[in-house]
This record gives sequence, C-alpha cells and structure tokens, in this order.
Amino acid sequence: MKNLVLLGGGYGNMRILLRLLPNQFPEDTKIILVDRNPFHSLKTEFYALAAGTTTDKKVRVDFPEHPRLEKVYGEITKIDRKEKKVYLQDGREIPYDDLVIGLGCEDDYHNVPGAAEHTLSIQTIANSRKTFETLCGLPAGSVVAIVGAGLSGIEIASELRESRKDLIIKLFDRSPRILRSFPEKLSRYIQEWFEKNNVEVIPESNITKVEPGKIYNHDEVIEVDAIVWTAGVQPVKIVREMDAQKDNKGRPLVNQYFQLVDDEHVYVVGDCASSDLPASAQLAEEQAERIAQVLKLRWKGEKLPEKMPPIKLKGFMGSLGKKQGFVYIADKTMTGRIARLLKSGLLWMYKRQNDN
Ligand SMILES: Cc1cc2nc3c(=O)[nH]c(=O)nc-3n(C[C@H](O)[C@H](O)[C@H](O)COP(=O)(O)OP(=O)(O)OC[C@H]3O[C@@H](n4cnc5c(N)ncnc54)[C@H](O)[C@@H]3O)c2cc1C
Repeated sequence: MKNLVLLGGGYGNMRILLRLLPNQFPEDTKIILVDRNPFHSLKTEFYALAAGTTTDKKVRVDFPEHPRLEKVYGEITKIDRKEKKVYLQDGREIPYDDLVIGLGCEDDYHNVPGAAEHTLSIQTIANSRKTFETLCGLPAGSVVAIVGAGLSGIEIASELRESRKDLIIKLFDRSPRILRSFPEKLSRYIQEWFEKNNVEVIPESNITKVEPGKIYNHDEVIEVDAIVWTAGVQPVKIVREMDAQKDNKGRPLVNQYFQLVDDEHVYVVGDCASSDLPASAQLAEEQAERIAQVLKLRWKGEKLPEKMPPIKLKGFMGSLGKKQGFVYIADKTMTGRIARLLKSGLLWMYKRQNDN
C-alpha cells in the first residue's frame, strides 16, 4: 500500500478529501489524515465562538469515513523530507509516499514585546475557547482591546459588541481607514456601524508593547482588561522550521502544481503555502482543487498540463454581528442585511457539502 498523507484537516485538505473520496484514488493507496482534533474546525467562525455568540458544536464538522481513509489524531512535531516521515509528539511516525501539508497559520506578533504572552488568540479552536472564557467572564464595564482591524478583527469586535453590550471595546487599526485597500464606501459603512454601536476605532495606531493590563499605542499607555490579537499571521512553526525554500513570510515556495519547488511528492495547501493572493479559506480550497487534479493525473501516469489556470478569488464577505454584513465581489460592494444573509447561507452550504 502507498500512503498519501494529509497533514491538517482544514479547508484545503477537506476539499482534497471531497474530490478524492470515495473512488477517485488508486486501490493500492491509503489516505492518512492527521490532525490534533478529531473534527474539521470551521476557522472562519472562530470569532463567534470567542465572542460567545455560537457554540463549539456549531463550528465543527466530522471528518469523512472511508475504508481506506485512516484518521490519526495527535500533535505533529516534525516533517522529515529525507526520511519521508512525519513525527508526532507521542512518538508515532508516519511514512509517506505523497504528502500534502495543510497545517494553516498562527499569530504573527511582529516582535512586539509581551504580545505573545499577554494577548488572546482566535487562530485555533482551543485558543478561541480560552478567549471566549476570558471575554465572557469579564466583569461589567471592562475594557477590551482588539489589535488589528482586518477581517477577523472587525468580525470579533462587532460580534463581541452584540454579545456584551456593557464592555468598552477599542479596535486598534494601523491604517488611516478600515480596509484601506478596498472602496471607501465599504470602510465608511463599517466605521459607521462601529460608531453607532459604540466601538472605538483607533486609526494609525502602532502597538509597541504589551504588559499585563496595559497596551502601548505609540507612547501612550492604555489600561485594559483583555487584549485580542488579530494583527497578522504566519505559517505554523513546524512549517517555518521545515527544510524547504521559503518566502519572506516563512511559507514554502511551491510551483504551479503546489508541489515544493524541489520535491514533486510534497504539496503545500492553504495558509502555509507561499502565494501572492491573500490567505483565505477560499484560496485554500482553490489550491486544493488543483492538487487533487494533479494527484489524479499522476496516478494515471498522465502528463500534467503545461500551464495550470491561475487562481482568481471571487471576493470576500464579512459580518458585523448577526444582522449586518458586507460582501465585496467583482469590484462591487454590497452592505447590510442581505449581505449578512449571504454569508450565513455560504456557511450553511459549506456545512451541508461537508456533512458526514
Ligand atoms: C476569525 C477568522 C475569520 C475568517 N474568515 C474568513 C472568511 O470569511 N473567508 C475566508 O475565505 N477565510 C477566512 N478566514 C481565513 C481562513 O480561516 C483560513 O485562511 C483557512 O482556515 C486556511 O485553511 P487551511 O486549510 O490552510 O488551514 P486551517 O483551516 O487553519 O486548518 C489547519 C489544520 O491543521 C491542524 N493543525 C495545525 N497544526 C497542527 C499540528 N502541529 N498537529 C496537528 N494538527 C495541526 C489544525 O487543527 C487544523 O485543523 C478567517 C480566519 C479567521 C481567524
């Protein structure tokens, strides 16, 4: 038996499973899926889990079942390309013939002193649960700082506002306006929602230090009760440390087939693969489509296309609590209730497609 080993059951590898199961992979091949959790986590919903507006069960999907799909649950600690093996914390070793690395990302603290130690995270389900416990357990009138007003910062700030009307929420944004690279209309809509709902947006901020109960914006010290970090991501440590050529963010360089540039048996998908496009679940799924196509061609012994079609992202959606949202597709902006319904509909469809 040959082993196709999938590291991480995130959006990328779930799409690969969807395309290969039940009968789109050779009889002499076994798929081994490795994840620390015994379920697929809906990371795009972690902001709601952390804010206490959804439950744990609603942000999980079971992995699929198949006689030749082996699921291994544990903490991956090392990828050894020379030995063609993956190592787990408990001592287990998994040999591979083909490997797809889809381990996602973690917070990037940009060397800000104290940020790693004294801020809350929404990058893993376990961290989001801890963030929920802290945020929802705060005494009345506490001050919460959210660092970074990208999509996840906007979503947690607004969801937390809906969850806890009493909290003082401060959203620190590096830019002069929210989502600066998108149309002003979109920024204005989000800014107005925050003003109406009493979330203070602090533009042109630069967080230089974090201490217990204190955040430093430029030289100003602000007393806070909790800080959530949403100010950037980097690939997980194992990927940053693996032996491969990488870009300046520590993501392995891949060719048009999403193989490592020097190893046609190792593929990288999702947030940990080098790309010019912004990291997103959508991108992970598009890359996965191509990886599944390449695997199938190689198994059949067929030639790979000279040129793979470039990935084009459709746009993005965001929520402002449970009733308002925004959609940015094909250079067009839609805001309000319908946009929020579209986002909820997409989540519903995703769960349905992956419901096992
Ligand atoms: C709050 C928030 C909102 C977002 N909203 C959107 C959105 O609306 N649209 C969008 O397109 N994207 C969104 N994103 C981004 C999106 O979630 C990621 O781009 C996407 O999850 C990347 O998929 P992936 O397959 O690379 O990895 P992930 O989905 O992160 O999966 C990685 C998997 O690897 C496992 N893993 C990692 N390390 C180990 C280890 N050492 N051992 C064992 N298992 C391990 C994890 O348990 C996880 O299951 C959002 C992100 C956040 C945080």
